Amino acid sequence: MQGAPPVVDEISRPWWDALSRHEVAMQRCSDCASWVFYPRPFCPSCGGRSLTWTPVDAVATLYSWTVARVPVSKAFAHLEEPVLAIAELANGVRLPTVIQDAQPEQLSVGMALKPVFDETAYEGFTLLYFRPAQPEPA
Ligand SMILES: [Zn+2]
Repeated sequence: MQGAPPVVDEISRPWWDALSRHEVAMQRCSDCASWVFYPRPFCPSCGGRSLTWTPVDAVATLYSWTVARVPVSKAFAHLEEPVLAIAELANGVRLPTVIQDAQPEQLSVGMALKPVFDETAYEGFTLLYFRPAQPEPA
């Protein structure tokens, strides 16, 4: 285990529980139907407190990305020039993530991504990363 492991509390636990099942779930507001990410106790759109954890399709497109050539913190110094990205899900939610299995020159804004459920970064946690949907790894 290296770096800074995730902090789990009662609000965010369903996110981590879903990832451990290799699923993605997000809160959705029962009052205004907005998706809510990151996990919160209330809806940032309408202030409603009736949020329901809802499974979502984790197929995404690449919204933006950069290569972190200098670690932003000692906690991430073990990562070798990670591709930090924003992935946009079909429901419009944009997630900060890391792109795996791709060289920067292979990436383009709008390309299709698929989820990677990574269980190697921190013992007992599954992290959500993404990789290009094509081509398949050899
Ligand atoms: Zn709402």
